[in-house]
Amino acid sequence: MTFKPDILAAIGNTPLIKLRRASELTGCTILGKAEFMNPGQSVKDRAALFIIQDAIERGALRPGGVIVEGTAGNTGIGLALVGNALGFRTIIVIPDTQSQEKKDMLRLAGAELIEVPAVPYANPNNYVKVSGRLAERLAASEPNGAIWANQFDNVANRQGHRETTGPEIWEQTEGKVDGFICAVGTGGTLAGIGMALKERNPKIAIGLADPMGAALYSYFTTGELKATGSSITEGIGQGRITKNIEGAPIDIAFQIPDEEALPVIFDLLQFEGLCLGGSSGINVAGAIRLAKHLGPGHTIVTVLCDYGTRYQSKLFNPDFLRAKNLPVPAWLERKSTIDP
Ligand code: PMP
Repeated sequence: MTFKPDILAAIGNTPLIKLRRASELTGCTILGKAEFMNPGQSVKDRAALFIIQDAIERGALRPGGVIVEGTAGNTGIGLALVGNALGFRTIIVIPDTQSQEKKDMLRLAGAELIEVPAVPYANPNNYVKVSGRLAERLAASEPNGAIWANQFDNVANRQGHRETTGPEIWEQTEGKVDGFICAVGTGGTLAGIGMALKERNPKIAIGLADPMGAALYSYFTTGELKATGSSITEGIGQGRITKNIEGAPIDIAFQIPDEEALPVIFDLLQFEGLCLGGSSGINVAGAIRLAKHLGPGHTIVTVLCDYGTRYQSKLFNPDFLRAKNLPVPAWLERKSTIDP
């Protein structure tokens, strides 16, 4: 018999998938790490598992304890599923702008969901700060205690990628990887994978793919944290240097507008059968930019962060796209003309 002892053992060891069109376009081999194949359908299952395991090991999280977190959704889904498997309750604070599908998934996973208005980090009512204060209060009042997962500044997050995702990419490419690139939410994925790859070969180029409205592209190119524009992508776009991004070995940064990332997402679904969320579009568009920068013949890896059905009401909704003045692919509006 071959089986996993539980859902936790099914997190990670995701396949690398060749992205055919991006590879043909650039003359490079562009590979996507299929993180949407994790049990919670996103890259954040890994961070959730490492954060919870670290809190248990430190003695901060005790049986029957509560996990509190502020999240754009995916980390919450990971925490809720891992929490269920290990017997912890989860309380999730989420900005009300995030997709309905993620909120529905959180509720069905049994998380207690608190929706708050989306306000900048500097505002004390920002979702991250609300979750931190709530965790502090519950730590004192809950009979079995409570922890704040604190994915942005808890480096157990990037450690998860340094110990698992990065080494997996190295082994799957047999060390023949020339570049890695992805976007930043907390920075755990980029920093953790970047560190793991640089430890093995310092010549591997590590790239940041930043959406519009984030401040890191400006930080890594001019030294100033400055944001312009906006993006409909969720889960990425950072305005400060989190503890997870601090010290990340970044060689090159690109700024990717939605108008460049969305056609990539639509093409990946229509021509390669890959149904992905918006941040994966920023990542693959970033991989194409890095491939063009390095030139033909290189192998470049990026992350396919989460599954597209999570954004059916937004990214894949013609009315939503039209309202945002974004391109609508023809097949999305196609109605059957077949008379059965
Ligand atoms: N894409 C999506 C859809 C996400 O939810 C996240 C996590 N916030 C990321 C990318 C970025 O990952 P990280 O937090 O490791 O930077």
